[in-house]
Amino acid sequence: MLRSVLLYLSEQKRLQDFVLGWGFARRRSRRFVAGETLDEAIGVVRDLNVRGMDVTLDHLGESVESEDQADKATDDYIKILERLAEETGVKATISIKPTQIGLAIDRDLCLKNMRRLAESAHERGNFVRMDMEASCYVDTTLSVFYELFDEFKNIGAVIQSYLKRSEEDTRELARRGAPVRLCKGAYKEPPALAFQKKKEINDSYVRLLEILMDSEAPAGIATHDDLMIEAGKRLMREHPERNAPVEFQMLYGVRRDMHAKLVEEGYGMRIYVPYGNEWYPYFMRRMAERPANLLFVLRAMGGK
Ligand SMILES: Cc1cc2nc3c(=O)[nH]c(=O)nc-3n(C[C@H](O)[C@H](O)[C@H](O)COP(=O)(O)OP(=O)(O)OC[C@H]3O[C@@H](n4cnc5c(N)ncnc54)[C@H](O)[C@@H]3O)c2cc1C
Repeated sequence: MLRSVLLYLSEQKRLQDFVLGWGFARRRSRRFVAGETLDEAIGVVRDLNVRGMDVTLDHLGESVESEDQADKATDDYIKILERLAEETGVKATISIKPTQIGLAIDRDLCLKNMRRLAESAHERGNFVRMDMEASCYVDTTLSVFYELFDEFKNIGAVIQSYLKRSEEDTRELARRGAPVRLCKGAYKEPPALAFQKKKEINDSYVRLLEILMDSEAPAGIATHDDLMIEAGKRLMREHPERNAPVEFQMLYGVRRDMHAKLVEEGYGMRIYVPYGNEWYPYFMRRMAERPANLLFVLRAMGGK
């Protein structure tokens, strides 16, 4: 119930405008968001790299409404790739939301912008992951991905284990050897399309991970859930013959103890680091995942 309310609030534009201007909320958001500028984000990347972690940078923003905005969001990401190539001692890939580069306006606009990003990353030896958003975008996101993956191998897709269609999509991505980030899924989806119970979502996650581990697709195990982490470790032990890389992936600020522990144990660990001034919907989705985070914010408000 609380999850649904928070997910609903995450989409409310007027509330967003109010919260973004609120200094207290901005400070609280810093637990999950690296800052508002690229300079701040680069500082966080450097620190994580020193601690043995790989990083994926996410320049926060959601669906855009015009071609100009989509092109501008793409330009901004290209500037990030340029900056990453110039910095020494800083290593990060990027992750983009397809609607941020035009998917909700027109598939071909998204394709054009995603191609620019793939090319720019390719020239600099970098990598671009296409995040997966609400279920209405899955078909077009994958179709853009497949078209470009024939040309560029430095791009990756995301699979959400709550979606009932994901087994078929995972098999197709695995067959092509495409890099896949496996997550549970962060949006509110109807029962016709998505598993609703935690056990079903978890069972699906393990099934999909088995498919990936049986293939030579590079795999990102994106979760903070101990059960999924254990399943990942078990499958790595059971597949010593596998050549493609496997890594754990977690969100900045979530289960920081576990980030360090997995690095110490010798696993690949990538932190997804969001930054930018459009942090409100991202922050609200993190609240929805764990209502205890909301209590933390409310308590801080009380003590302010
Ligand atoms: C690297 C990465 C990339 C992602 N990319 C996408 C994407 O492209 N599309 C998409 O739909 N979703 C994405 N997600 C979000 C994902 O789908 C889930 O919503 C989120 O990861 C919570 O699921 P979980 O696997 O951690 O398990 P859960 O069952 O939600 O949580 C397990 C445990 O982890 C801890 N935990 C989980 N979330 C939080 C939190 N916010 N704060 C504190 N503790 C927490 C708690 O201890 C909780 O009990 C991504 C997640 C990660 C880690």
